[in-house]
Amino acid sequence: MNGDMPFGAGLAAAELRAPNTIFALASGAGRAAIAVLRLSGPAAGRILAALCGLPPPRRASLRRLRGPAGETLDHALVLWLPAPASYTGEDCAELFLHGGHAVIEKVSEALVALGARPAEPGEFTRRAFLNGRMDLLEAEAIADLVDAETEAQRRQALRQLEGELGALYRGWAGELRRLLANAEAAIDFSDQDLPEIEDAPALARLTAALALHLADDRSGERVREGLAIVVAGPPNAGKSSLINALAGRDVAIVAPTPGTTRDPVEARIVLGSLPVTLIDTAGLRDSAEPIEAEGVRRARARAASADLVLAVTDASCPVAFPLDATAPVLAIANKTDLAAPPAGLLPVSALTGAGLPELRARLAEIAGGIAATAGPPPLTRARHRAALRDAEAALAAAAAAPAPELRAEELRAALAALGRITGSVGVEDILATIFSSFCIGK
Ligand code: GDP
Repeated sequence: MNGDMPFGAGLAAAELRAPNTIFALASGAGRAAIAVLRLSGPAAGRILAALCGLPPPRRASLRRLRGPAGETLDHALVLWLPAPASYTGEDCAELFLHGGHAVIEKVSEALVALGARPAEPGEFTRRAFLNGRMDLLEAEAIADLVDAETEAQRRQALRQLEGELGALYRGWAGELRRLLANAEAAIDFSDQDLPEIEDAPALARLTAALALHLADDRSGERVREGLAIVVAGPPNAGKSSLINALAGRDVAIVAPTPGTTRDPVEARIVLGSLPVTLIDTAGLRDSAEPIEAEGVRRARARAASADLVLAVTDASCPVAFPLDATAPVLAIANKTDLAAPPAGLLPVSALTGAGLPELRARLAEIAGGIAATAGPPPLTRARHRAALRDAEAALAAAAAAPAPELRAEELRAALAALGRITGSVGVEDILATIFSSFCIGK
């Protein structure tokens, strides 16, 4: 645990008062050598005692597990982790079973018979949060670590798990509390002749730090979600062929008839240390045909929200096409097996594969620039960004407040916004959303 406040204090009191005992498979589904069943809640000790006798705490013990009728269910390594020093902060147990499906079924049935129930997605971590074992940023980092597909995602999630982001926000919250105390003192002693405390520079420093943190070009969110690269260009330039060549499989429909690609088609690949979604767009041309026109509309919308636009020109038939993208554009010329590329464009041939290694390297370089991990930890979710924007607005209002009462109110609002990120205040309404995206057993 890290932090100066009891996370989740006052939250979901009923949930804390009557937590039932839950269990779930913590290891992956499917045939495996070992399956880990995890159990948490007030009855965990009683259930474990009934299954195999209570082993000494925190010591791996080999036990024979017995069902309700005394029959042997499995021979398993058993861990007894009494509260409070467990993942959830409750009494916990872990059973390392033989990985067969029937074994897991049979032991699960026994657990239900003994009064446990299957856990909801993220329920273990939710309990850990409610019991003050971690803040919300660390809980989210655990979900990210479980989902991490690439090295950059793993590194980023680990930094967040180790509390770097939380420490940054708690530092700001501490400074805000100091400013708030000053404002409150100014209210309390407004009838006395106290010297005015000059808080403007501290407020300005905090505002600047927040603005700098927000002006991160969404790098943390992009590492977490992956990069969206839109492949745009006139019909028949070879966009679909290029995506297929980059992805190494047939994802997009390739056809010699212009306007064949009607919906954006997506392919997920890994470039450098980042996951990248390549989005094929319908040929960006105006069309009277309604289905194609709809495809064009969607393509334009996708291009507007992309991280990078790969603008494809047909070297054998270069035509100008409008591109109203706000993202950086990498211009390439395809079909260079047929004609020399126009100057300044990266030459490739989706057909022969010429130039593709260079294109991949260039894309990986761009992705790597985004995933660079130097400097303070980046914020990783739109949820954090929204709360930080609220804090920023409140700080601006505090700086402009004409009276200490108003300044105090705005500082309190800024503090609450920061608290929502780590989960120290007012997060009841978002907990369900956050934890429902976790996997079962986490
Ligand atoms: P899109 O409409 O931009 O998605 O284009 P497609 O990928 O469907 O390709 C249109 C046509 O150009 C197809 O017949 C492809 O086989 C062909 N094509 C694509 N890339 C190349 C290339 O590098 N060289 C040559 N010669 N033909 C290509």
